[in-house]
Amino acid sequence: MRIDLDANATTPVLPEVLEAMQPYWLELYGNPSSTHQSGRRARGAVEMARIALASLLHCSAKEIVFTSGGTESDNLALCGVLQPYLDRGEPAHLITTQIEHHAVLFAAESLERRGVEVTYLKPDSNGVIRPEDLEAALRPHTRLVSVMLANNETGAIQPVGKIARIAKAHGALVHTDAVQGAAKIPLDLSGEFKNVDLLSISGHKMYAPQGTGVLFVRQGISIAPLFHGGPHERQRRAGTENVPGIVGLGRAAELGQQRLAAGHITTLTTLRDRLEQGLLSAIPGASINCAAAPRVPNTTSLRIDSINAEALIIALDLQGIAASFGSACMSGAAEPSHVLIAMGLTSAEALATIRLSLSTLTTAEEIDRALEIIPAAVTRLRSVV
Ligand code: PLP
Repeated sequence: MRIDLDANATTPVLPEVLEAMQPYWLELYGNPSSTHQSGRRARGAVEMARIALASLLHCSAKEIVFTSGGTESDNLALCGVLQPYLDRGEPAHLITTQIEHHAVLFAAESLERRGVEVTYLKPDSNGVIRPEDLEAALRPHTRLVSVMLANNETGAIQPVGKIARIAKAHGALVHTDAVQGAAKIPLDLSGEFKNVDLLSISGHKMYAPQGTGVLFVRQGISIAPLFHGGPHERQRRAGTENVPGIVGLGRAAELGQQRLAAGHITTLTTLRDRLEQGLLSAIPGASINCAAAPRVPNTTSLRIDSINAEALIIALDLQGIAASFGSACMSGAAEPSHVLIAMGLTSAEALATIRLSLSTLTTAEEIDRALEIIPAAVTRLRSVV
């Protein structure tokens, strides 16, 4: 039995999602821009999915833009807001954080090279951005604030509602990368997040296919498109829609909403806490990064003194457990995580940290088995050093 404790890297497509998608490759294929019957059917399916996403996020269907995933949504948000200032030769300042995913960080760096001023806020030692630091960083020409909702490595939830209120009062737009928060915690764009203007989601972190995503763009906000082509997605994202993928994402959004209503947060938190407590009591010198921060219910960032995380990941893989070192996108590179370093960990501490992330399919039996395998692997590794 393989145990997948790497759900923050990707999740499987749920059977219900696959079932919903299936007809759109076979008998119901069609281009949603075609006026004939199969085109209209495909259009109908895309619009139903848009409604499902809007319902998950508590926004209007018109505010949903389908993209190819989190990376594209993040780039569209940052470049879409800031490129027009560069084009007009007007000053533009972006505030983001040192703990963002590279989809935001590298987009920010690219904008910086093109003339945007960028401030990267540092988190506190619990991996959380302080709203007062944002307040102090605002400038008259701050156009956009981009702070992620939940960190992919530590699970730490950022005070996005508060941050958005401060930025809005200053006249800046607000983007949040909610890739690791969507369908894990409630997202209410007409309540707690009513001051958020742009929000990114990725399908493959919420049981929909890889290569699907959404950028929420609040009504009245105009963004420059990344791609030039047809008038798709109300001129915001050119290109024929990925109809089966969008249908799958819509079904995944419905299922996510049902799970949240059925108390999924408590179920996952209970499993995650059982894993953490078991590991802390079985492994001397183990600690949880960001334990004091509010966290999404599925993520554990586990630091183990005098352990090489990469060696542990390999040992666990051989024993049937998928876990990850730093962020998934950097796996293979033995660089300390920029997130953990920003929080104040030393390189050695960051290189001794693994990430365990649970999915909705994780069972209590799998957690118990992981609690046998992980401490034993740590003991073995320590004995050979
Ligand atoms: N943002 C965060 C927080 C992520 O964790 C990821 C993927 O790991 C992304 C963005 C990129 O999403 P995608 O893989 O859909 O491009």
